[in-house]
Order: sequence, then structure tokens, then C-alpha cells
Amino acid sequence: MTNIKTVFVTGGAGYIGSHCVLSLLEAGYNVVAIDNFVNSVEQQESAASLDRVSRITGKKIIFYKCDLLDIQQLDDIFNKHQFDCVIHFAAMKSVGESIKQPLMYYKNNIVGAMNLLDVMAAHECYQLVFSSSCTVYGNPIFLPITEDHPIGNVTNVYGRTKYFIEEILKDSVNSDPKWNVISLRYFNPVGAHSSGLIGEDPTKNFSNLMPYIALVALGKKPTLSIFGGDYETPDGTGIRDYIHVMDLAEGHVAALKKLQSKQSHLEVFNLGSGQGTSVLEFVQTFENVTGVKVPYIIEARREGDIGSMYANCDLARTKLGWTAKYTLDDICRDFWRWQSLNPNGYKGNSITSTNGDTCH
Ligand code: UDP
Repeated sequence: MTNIKTVFVTGGAGYIGSHCVLSLLEAGYNVVAIDNFVNSVEQQESAASLDRVSRITGKKIIFYKCDLLDIQQLDDIFNKHQFDCVIHFAAMKSVGESIKQPLMYYKNNIVGAMNLLDVMAAHECYQLVFSSSCTVYGNPIFLPITEDHPIGNVTNVYGRTKYFIEEILKDSVNSDPKWNVISLRYFNPVGAHSSGLIGEDPTKNFSNLMPYIALVALGKKPTLSIFGGDYETPDGTGIRDYIHVMDLAEGHVAALKKLQSKQSHLEVFNLGSGQGTSVLEFVQTFENVTGVKVPYIIEARREGDIGSMYANCDLARTKLGWTAKYTLDDICRDFWRWQSLNPNGYKGNSITSTNGDTCH
């Protein structure tokens, strides 16, 4: 039994990281977070998203601007604090960009993860929750996907970095039983915290469906391009498993409890809603819930896309005691609240704090 009190969160200012920090604080953990702001908004060396998380929860977060490639700074942070567990979100995540700049992705994601493991081991911190992805499964051989579906036949560099890191974790755990690791394979995280104060604020190279729906709904883009109307799905558009980001965040809290209760060594869980939703169903639900029209055009398939992907989450239900609770209606409602309250994301609207200080 290992009592986890203080959690070190890499990529804590990002979309999933910030929602997860909120859930951790509400569950009573202390959080020290880092981010290099490659995918999140920096305001005067502070994290705009985490300032708001502090506002929502009334709790403090110690934050450092830090890049995992800077192993010295990472080591300094581990010297300053005693961590019981690490949740590792920090990574570059654009599929298209990863194909164009593979070395940058391998260096940032894989070397970053290796630096983190090195520093953790040097400081005798062996408990880790890793942010993996359903992209490790490649083209599904069967649906819904269970954790024992073959992995590694990945179609892009971003997905390969997640797959390689899972392999590195497996080898590390095999080499030293002190490691206690849970890898969470996310399906499609969407939505926002119900306060409307935090949400996804993609800074560059985004290509996901929900931010594009936002652009059209906010009148910043005339139509949504739907990629492919000829898939073997009931309405011809692609099917995905969309999971509310707060459900995902709660999945991390459940993973921490699992790490606490027993030596996991290495366990892998799918985190999804378990429901397949087509692009057209998504757009329809968004329009019904918000009353905002999203004009669209059906275009050619996007290169590298697959027709259908959705999860079987029985393992997370039975072993973590976790299931997704939010509906697609909740996702659209919470997402639209965030978008309408913050049409320009975090820019220009944050309470600031200084580097290494607490956010208030
Ligand atoms: N999609 C779309 N238009 C867009 C962005 C995405 O039709 O502007 C479709 C995409 O083809 C897929 C689904 O929406 O069927 C989810 O795409 P996303 O990029 O969000 O997730 P991923 O494909 O990585 O699962």
C-alpha cells in the first residue's frame, strides 16, 4: 500500500492536463505541474488554464515552466519536492505535423519520456500514469476494441511515439519490479469543465473535429468540412468514441487509487465512452443542444483516417471502478459554454502568478 499525496503532472497546462489537475485537487491530492507551453497558453510565465483551475477549486498548484528535454531543470524540481506519483501528459500531439517533422516528435515525446523516467528512478519515484492513445491500435481488426487488440501497426508518427513509449515502459517494468505503471489509452477527448472557465484552446496545427465545429459555430469559418461520406457506417461518415474530458480526468484519479491499492507493475486501460458516434450524429447533437447551426460539406476522406473506432471499457469498469458518465448532450453543452464564454480561448483573461509560485 503506497499512500499518494503529491502528484507531479507533466503537460499540466494543456487541455487534458488542466482538467485532470482539477480532478486531482478535488480528490485531495497536492499537485506540482510543469508545461513548456507548446500546446497551451502562457501568460507572464504562468499557465492561464491552471490559474483558472485554482479559481474554480480554491486550491493552490505549484507550477514551473519546464521542458522535459531540460533534464537538469527536471532534476532540480525533483530535488525541491517529494513526489509520490507522476502523471505524464506532456507530448506533441498533431498527427499531420508528426508526419512532416518525425524527428521533432521522436525527440520531444520519446526523449522527453526517457528523461522523465531517468529522473524519477534517480529520485526513487516509481509510480507513473502514462497518457497513451487508441492510435496505438492502428486499423481495428475488431470492434469494440479491447486492450488485448494487437498494437504497433500504427499509421502515423505521433501514434508511434505513444506505442514506443508503452514498449519502453514495459521494458522498464520488466527490468525493475519497483516500477508501478498504468497506461491509459484515450479515445477522443472532447467537451469542457461545466464551469465554462477551462476547455480546449488549440494553439496551432489542430485538426480535430470539435475545434472545427467551434470555428463554424462561432462564425469564424463558413462551413465544416466532413471528411468522407462513403465509409461503411450507417450514414457514411466516420465513427469515433467521444469521451467527456472530465470523465477522462476522473479516469486518472481512479488510476491513482489503483496504484495506491496494489502493485500494478504495468496495466493498460481503455478510456472511452464505449459508444460509437458518427460525424453527422455529432453535428446533429451539437445543433440540437446549442440551437446553433453548423453548415457542412461532405468532402473526400482525410488521408490516413479510419472508418470506425470505439472502445470496450469493461476492464476500466471492473478493475478501476470507472465508467464514463457524461452523455454526448453534456459534451456539447459544456463545450459550447466554454466556447461562447471564451471565443478567443484563454488569451487576455487570466489571473497571473509567477514561475515556481503557486497559482491563486
Ligand atoms: N473530421 C471531420 N472534419 C474535421 C475534423 C475531423 O469530418 O474538420 C472527422 C474525422 O474524419 C473523423 C472524426 O471527425 O471521422 C474525428 O476526427 P478527429 O481528428 O477529431 O479525431 P481522430 O480522427 O484522430 O480520431
